[in-house]
Amino acid sequence: MSDSKNLRPALFLDRDGTLMEEVDHCRDPALVKAYPGASEELSRAKALGWATIIVTNQSGIGRGYFTEEEFRAVQSELLRQLGDVIDASYMAPDHPDTPSPRRKPAPGMILEATAEHGIDLSRSWMIGDKAIDIECGRNAGVRTILVETGYGRKTAECIPDHRAPTVTEAIRIALSY
Ligand SMILES: [Mg+2]
Repeated sequence: MSDSKNLRPALFLDRDGTLMEEVDHCRDPALVKAYPGASEELSRAKALGWATIIVTNQSGIGRGYFTEEEFRAVQSELLRQLGDVIDASYMAPDHPDTPSPRRKPAPGMILEATAEHGIDLSRSWMIGDKAIDIECGRNAGVRTILVETGYGRKTAECIPDHRAPTVTEAIRIALSY
């Protein structure tokens, strides 16, 4: 049993439109562009003891637009561009019409990661560009930051704890608490 004192805070990060440029249902590693500055700020978070965890919906798999193997190729390219700054990645392949405890806004991926990586949710944050990211964070009981990249500028229908122009700025906000 891990003592609660040994639990770490986490940054739960959406992928598309948050860590990398939004590409509709990206299936091609050649189209992956990590946002500048994200790697450096994630590296700083890790040095301070934070866990860094990607939680990404990939309904393109459930819709039959691309395969899990194609997803993994895109994911590998993003992780290569970011460098060694991500502790774990969780992915929900479900079609939006299929009830799923994992697909955001459901909190399943965050709760799985919390159990598997010894996370203290009370000190953690969810960062993303869509209302479902903010709802997911709230459903998991973590604080939330909406970034204005990806769909973020078009996302009005949610109330995050903070808004930030980029993921780099969002991580700075989280680390400042
Ligand atoms: Mg997104």
